[in-house]
Amino acid sequence: MPVLSMMIKPVSSACNMRCQNCFYADVAAHRRIPNYGVMTPDTMRALVRRAFIYADSSVSFSFQGGEPTLAGIEYFQSFLREVHRCNSRHLPVSYALQTNGYAVSDEMLALFAEHHFLLGVSLDGPEDMHDALRKDAGGCGTYRRVMRTIEKLRHFGIPYNILCVVTAETARRSQETWNALREHQYLQFIPCIDGLDGSHNPYSLSPEAYCR
Ligand code: SF4
Repeated sequence: MPVLSMMIKPVSSACNMRCQNCFYADVAAHRRIPNYGVMTPDTMRALVRRAFIYADSSVSFSFQGGEPTLAGIEYFQSFLREVHRCNSRHLPVSYALQTNGYAVSDEMLALFAEHHFLLGVSLDGPEDMHDALRKDAGGCGTYRRVMRTIEKLRHFGIPYNILCVVTAETARRSQETWNALREHQYLQFIPCIDGLDGSHNPYSLSPEAYCR
């Protein structure tokens, strides 16, 4: 009875933000092809079709980036139509999507609400800590835009969790970070570590700091 869980990167490494400590920019820079562009409709249809051939109890699709919402609402509308077309056995289907919360349209949020998506939103603690690292393409902080997106998630009734990157600064200001995030019901923390080539950066954690 295979339960199928698929992670989908519809825009490869493309992103509309420029976080100073982006692990994926580092990963992409080490690939032969850094960015594969937007997933083609043929690829999207093939993966949905194969998912429902393989699974026979339930299917979960999770979208990640880069920033997956850059695929555009048409991508998600076509994806959902394809699921409807291929799920002839009426298996339970769930959706999750990780976003930076920078520019998600109301139209897209309404679609996510209608199809019961679970969203993950990246938020790195209080405003000054978030803005120090999570910048847009023009170098400006993104905290206020992300908080506006979170307000909209509440408005649309979309369940969400917060993903916080734990840096050396977070470790120094852990209580402040907790105070800034505790209002959100579900929190995930991931450590910021050194580059793939072993290079150290000022944000990455030592094991001692992470432990603290
Ligand atoms: S939002 Fe995510 S993918 Fe985009 S730059 Fe920031 S860490 Fe990288």
